[in-house]
Amino acid sequence: MICSECGGSLRETMEPIVEEYRGERFSVSGIRHYVCDSCGSYELLAEDADLLSQKIADQYAARHELLTPAEIRGARKSLGLTQIEFERLLGVSSPTCSRWENGAVQQSKSNDRLIRLIANVPGAREYLERLGKVSTASYEAQLIPFVPSVRSVTPDFENIKEG
Ligand SMILES: [Zn+2]
Repeated sequence: MICSECGGSLRETMEPIVEEYRGERFSVSGIRHYVCDSCGSYELLAEDADLLSQKIADQYAARHELLTPAEIRGARKSLGLTQIEFERLLGVSSPTCSRWENGAVQQSKSNDRLIRLIANVPGAREYLERLGKVSTASYEAQLIPFVPSVRSVTPDFENIKEG
């Protein structure tokens, strides 16, 4: 095989690959790749490139005490939720969840903790689900008593109260 950078010859190896990700260095071992000793670049097969980014995402997660993509998927599945339901529950836009789960995007520390909370603390999920449902209606009901003009055109005011 020929190096696409300099035309030198490539050498097959299993040596650790050192890569930079988000300004940090990671060393990944166990991936077959082809090194050019003339210019120092390397090449790998498409499936091994996917494996490399997966392993780097896992190492990054471990180093920053974040759930790995597989752990996020596991947490979601243990709750019996689809990716869209999970996004709604967390209050994040779509397709954030699938990006987390395939390692394309790293979850923030606060979302990471929210996921752990929902997956591990009984009642946390139900609390968030309730929060999602009551928000607008009860907020408006609470506003009415403080706006006299609105109150006067709301004959059923007494029945608006939430349980
Ligand atoms: Zn080269």
